[in-house]
Amino acid sequence: THFSDLGLNPQLVRACDDQGYSTPTDIQEKAIPLLLKGHDVLGIAQTGTGKTAAYALPILMQCKYAQGSNPRALILAPTRELVIQIEEVFRSLSKYTDLRILAIYGGLGPRTQIDAINNGIDLLIATPGRFMELYLKEVIITKELKTLVLDEADKMMDMGFMPQIRKILEVIPIKKRQNALFSATFPEKVENLSFEFLEYPHKIEI
Ligand code: AMP
Repeated sequence: THFSDLGLNPQLVRACDDQGYSTPTDIQEKAIPLLLKGHDVLGIAQTGTGKTAAYALPILMQCKYAQGSNPRALILAPTRELVIQIEEVFRSLSKYTDLRILAIYGGLGPRTQIDAINNGIDLLIATPGRFMELYLKEVIITKELKTLVLDEADKMMDMGFMPQIRKILEVIPIKKRQNALFSATFPEKVENLSFEFLEYPHKIEI
């Protein structure tokens, strides 16, 4: 299987080639077609399996062009380091698109992040705390969000993010929203979260 067999457009396939991704990994081969069809996905996969590109490529495919000023996809991850890592994957895979990607996280003043959001963004990668902070300040507008990803959900549960995740789910339009949840492990609390968050998910275990 090649990336071009998975239903991705030439710009994304070329970006994969540039990254040295010659063939899709297991999770990519399984998750990409499902996500492109619009299904919710529950992915049990460790870091190192290529899980980031497994959701990044379908999101980039669905968003395609810069449009309007509000984000259409939101990726939540537990730590600043992970948010930055995810941003790098999105940036490299989106190099032949004009999509505006932004990572936001705590630990530094929000001013630069607020300015960037106000300039218009298509895809937002965030820690739950900073997302909620800028949502409450009415900087982030959620009405155009069509895709939501929770990455490293087990870690988010361990770090006590559940109440914040619940609040975030409440402020995001549910209608026709596509959801994906990725987790390295699948303990009961992640299973419960997946019940609350996902609609008829396809489960992929790597
Ligand atoms: P992740 O599991 O998303 O943290 O990715 C782990 C590493 O695998 C990253 O350094 C990616 O750049 C790399 N990677 C992702 N997809 C592929 C692929 N199809 N072929 C080769 N390397 C990949």
